[in-house]
This record gives sequence, C-alpha cells and structure tokens, in this order.
Amino acid sequence: MGERGLRKVRRPQGGLFLQLLVLTCLILLVVSFVLWYIPYLGLSNIHPKLPLLLAIMLGIAMLLIFIGAGSLIITTYRGRDFFLSRKLRGIVIEVLFPLMVFWGRVMGISKEKIQRSFIEINNQLVLSNTHKTKPTSLLLLLPQCIQDFDCDIKITGDIQNCRRCGNCEIKDLVEISDTYNVKIAVATGGTLARRIIVKIRPEAIVAVACELDLTSGIQDTYPIPVIGVLNQRPNGPCYNTMVDIAEVKEALLSFMER
Ligand code: SF4
Repeated sequence: MGERGLRKVRRPQGGLFLQLLVLTCLILLVVSFVLWYIPYLGLSNIHPKLPLLLAIMLGIAMLLIFIGAGSLIITTYRGRDFFLSRKLRGIVIEVLFPLMVFWGRVMGISKEKIQRSFIEINNQLVLSNTHKTKPTSLLLLLPQCIQDFDCDIKITGDIQNCRRCGNCEIKDLVEISDTYNVKIAVATGGTLARRIIVKIRPEAIVAVACELDLTSGIQDTYPIPVIGVLNQRPNGPCYNTMVDIAEVKEALLSFMER
C-alpha cells in the first residue's frame, strides 16, 4: 500500500497535460506567424524595419514559451528540479492551465480529465523542488465529505472533536496529524479553506479533495506549494468519500525535513 501511494504521489503521468502543452505550443507558433504576417504589409508602409522588429519580438516570446514548455517536460520526466520548477508551477497554474482547458474542450476531452492531469503535473513540480518544511508548518486540509454522513459530531471548527470511533477515515487522518505533529483542518468549501489557510499560514499543504476543488485550491493558494491527493468516491460525489491513507502520509513526508 505504502509503495502504491508513493508511486501515485511521486510518479504521476500527467501525459494528457503534456500532450495538450505541446499542442498549445504549436498553435501559438502558428498564431504568432499569422500575427506577424497579416500586418506585414501595413507595417512596412509605416517603416521598412517594423516587420523585422515585430518578428524579433514574437520570436523572443515563442522562444520563452518553448524554453518553459521544454523545462516543464524535462522536470516532469526527471522528477527532479531541472530549471526553476517554482516559477514553472506559476506559469502552469496561471497561463498554461486555462489554455489546456480551452484546447481540451475544443478536442472534446472532459474537464475532469484535464484537471486530473493538471493536479498530477502540479504534484510532480512540487515534489521536484527540494524545499522542505517543519511538520508544524504543514497543513493537512480535508473535505468534510470524508466524515461519515451519519456522524453528528461537528469537526469543521475543531477536528479533534472526532471520537476516533473508526467509522470513517477522519480517525486515521487525525492520528497521522498527531504522529507527525502536522496541522489538520476540515473545510466545507473553498471559502472556508481560504480562511483556514490565512489563519494557519502554512508553508506547505497536502490537500485531499475532488478534481474541481483541488484544481481551484492549487490555483488560489499559489505560491504556497500544494500536493493534491484525489479522494475516492465509491458512494458517489460528496458522500462518504475516502482517501488512500498511505498516499496522504507519503505526501506529508515528502515535505518534511527528515
Ligand atoms: S471517526 Fe470521528 S468523524 Fe468519523 S464517524 Fe467516528 S467520530 Fe465521527
């Protein structure tokens, strides 16, 4: 189980994301050529050197995009920081992901599939960075749907209210937080999650949630490094969900100074 979790966290594929990334680069190349070619005649009427200037500017922009994409691909495959993976994560989150979603939708790929791929790439970039932190600066953030639906104990304000009856995985997760001395909290949604993060001010986060919440959480909390662990939904969405405990543990350990 531990090995399975480790592989899941450390060696994600993210292949779909990388394929869409290459496609986006090629499309941008065509778009930049069109952007240069269409005003070509008009610009040369203003000044004969203007088309050359525009070509240089577009060329530099494309070069930067290709360097970024190349670094991202190499970092992902090597699993180690190749070239500014922190900055790359910012580019992936703020620039590339919206483009990936757009092209994915154009090609009929589900948003959930692209989000999963994005989470995998994000995790890979976070893990490739050597940044370590104290356990007390780590936050394990959980969705409320992991709690047994029939449990009437309120754990959103304080998860330590859990009586550890074992009817849901909150028990195991609280025990992990006690063992490693990491902070732990439950959020009912994005707004509460943001409030918890502002209050705790963690250096790094391991977040458990569905594709949608993890994606928006990773985007909202950038530049804080977040490893996303997908929940399991054997009973359908948002109801008695589960998580691979070994995977959560491995994600936390990967952030810790050992
Ligand atoms: S483990 Fe905790 S949260 Fe889960 S059902 Fe038992 S008391 Fe409730």
